[in-house]
Amino acid sequence: MKDTYRHKGLRRKLIESIREKGIRDEAVLEAMLQLPRHFFMDKAFEELAYQDKAFPIGNDQTISQPLTVAIQTSLLEVNPREKILEVGTGSGYQAALLGMLGARVYTLERHRPLHLQAQQLLRQLKLGNIRCFHRDGFKGLPEFAPFDKIIVTAGAEEVPEKLSRQLKIGGKMVIPVGKKVQEMLVVTRTAEQEFEQLKKGSFRFVPFLKGLK
Ligand code: SAH
Repeated sequence: MKDTYRHKGLRRKLIESIREKGIRDEAVLEAMLQLPRHFFMDKAFEELAYQDKAFPIGNDQTISQPLTVAIQTSLLEVNPREKILEVGTGSGYQAALLGMLGARVYTLERHRPLHLQAQQLLRQLKLGNIRCFHRDGFKGLPEFAPFDKIIVTAGAEEVPEKLSRQLKIGGKMVIPVGKKVQEMLVVTRTAEQEFEQLKKGSFRFVPFLKGLK
């Protein structure tokens, strides 16, 4: 895997365009500038990796659009050492970005081939603070709960209760919810039995589905 000057130049332009679209979180922009997105995509799409678009990664899934990744990651307000659960490993790009921001990352994927591929890539990149699991995200990861933050990268029909129960008090989850189009929700656990919700705009994600593949 090579990260050439050409890749770096294209990436710089992409990150500038994301900044112009309103992302102001410098830590997120800097991490996206450092992380080669083309490592997470098929060779066939290498030339397109620095367009602000989602692309296929196999098994009918996609690597999210960079602007969407930037928005979700900014909403998550990641602090170093935080324990973060990601549902929907996919290519591993989002997990890698969280790792670069200093989080301790636990990421779940239901498609075994995607899980294995992302796990291998993340190991190669020596991002040591990321653990990959072949699991159904509806159940979360109870043995490692509670989490400071949870990020879901597939569109759910509702907020899965098992996931919100795995948040620390004061912790928050960023999750797109809806059938055809999803509303980005930021759910904060304000007390043992209390959750607050904020809406942060409309998006389109691949569906959050039950069961392992
Ligand atoms: N974060 C990914 C985006 C991948 S798309 C990236 O950076 O590339 C969303 C992923 O969520 C898909 O790979 C899909 O298989 C996965 N997914 C959907 N429902 C799931 C579930 N119940 N449990 C775990 N993963 C799920």
